[in-house]
Amino acid sequence: NWIFKTIVAGAGGVGKTALIERYVSGAFLEDHKMTIGAAFSVKDVKLDTGENVRMQLWDFAGEERFRFLLGDYCKGASGAFICFDITDYSTFEQIPEWLRIIRQNAGMIPIILVGNKYDLDNHELELATADEYAESAKCLMNVFCSAKLDLNVEPMFAAMAKWLIYY
Ligand code: GDP
Repeated sequence: NWIFKTIVAGAGGVGKTALIERYVSGAFLEDHKMTIGAAFSVKDVKLDTGENVRMQLWDFAGEERFRFLLGDYCKGASGAFICFDITDYSTFEQIPEWLRIIRQNAGMIPIILVGNKYDLDNHELELATADEYAESAKCLMNVFCSAKLDLNVEPMFAAMAKWLIYY
């Protein structure tokens, strides 16, 4: 049995809590309280190869006033998701800052970029743009998903679990 601490970072409002909720309990909550500080959820993943992985998913509030906690919060993490909202370009522009903090405190751990709210029409980012950025920044991959419609959510967490076990 493996236990991995995995960070879920990104600007406030991009859907970090919704993605974790969708993955862990299969639900989507239209409105919920804003995350204060950091909290973690646990998901047991059984890979198709038979191994069991326990993922500790750390949801971090993107609010400016909690940024000072991020360095400590990254310590001991095995992997990270950096989330943005594909209908809000400014959330994509914040990725380099998240990358810097994570790599400074957790080293070269695997990072998956996550463009959430794929269900909406007003996209400000194309998949190819985010893919290229992920490659240039040495991230594992970029995924467009929707917590609301449950698109690509399970696969992105499963990809991380597999990567953590095999590398
Ligand atoms: P966080 O601050 O990053 O944790 O973001 P939340 O999980 O609190 O989500 C912020 C808002 O975006 C909430 O009103 C969610 O209902 C909404 N939201 C989250 N994921 C999606 C999604 O995939 N599609 C749409 N349309 N809305 C979403």
